[in-house]
Amino acid sequence: MKRAWISGLAAVAILLGLALPAWAEFTLPPLPYAPDALQPAIDATTMTIHHDRHHGAYVANLNGQIKGNPELSKLSLDALQSQISRFPVAVRNNGGGHWNHSQFWAVMAPVGEGGAPSPELLAAIEASFGSLQAMQTQFSQAAAARFGSGWAWLIRTPDGALTITSTANQDNPLMDLPEIEQGTPLLGLDVWEHAYYLNYQNRRPDYISAWWDLVNWDEVNRRFSASL
Ligand code: MN
Repeated sequence: MKRAWISGLAAVAILLGLALPAWAEFTLPPLPYAPDALQPAIDATTMTIHHDRHHGAYVANLNGQIKGNPELSKLSLDALQSQISRFPVAVRNNGGGHWNHSQFWAVMAPVGEGGAPSPELLAAIEASFGSLQAMQTQFSQAAAARFGSGWAWLIRTPDGALTITSTANQDNPLMDLPEIEQGTPLLGLDVWEHAYYLNYQNRRPDYISAWWDLVNWDEVNRRFSASL
């Protein structure tokens, strides 16, 4: 009986060893709330399609790149961003898409559940922008002005200041690319049409305005503290 148990363990160990490459694949994180939890600012159908199909496709397509780029299976999603220049554009698009959306779900919360900027974050925002409202205005303008598809970001730059930037497609401020203003993302907003079109059609500014009520400041505070 004992011997069977031990050989069973050995078999499991062998299976684990064989299974490891598959386990190094990237995985789609579940939404941290119900798809309808962000209504009415973002409707449940948009959330489900956005998470399950769009984000799901970025993850699947990134995993599809592992065979041709085996070093991908040894990198964390964070580490990949800062080395993205070494990889083909399909890795940039899908690896960026996976990082950006994982970030996006986390920095949102149902209305009233997102807390408020911490005193430390608020002080940093006031030092860089003058006021929280001024930061939000500048962020909203960057989000509205992004031509085509992309993201608006509040970042902490390497010199410690906070600033607003915007990236095209699925790029983000962690990427080691010359056209990108680099920094640690504290808050990023998806302004691809797939993020808002069902509810807002061409009214991107209305989506941006409604979205501020969804910001999960507790998570932004956490990202700010981790960047210090
Ligand atoms: Mn998106």
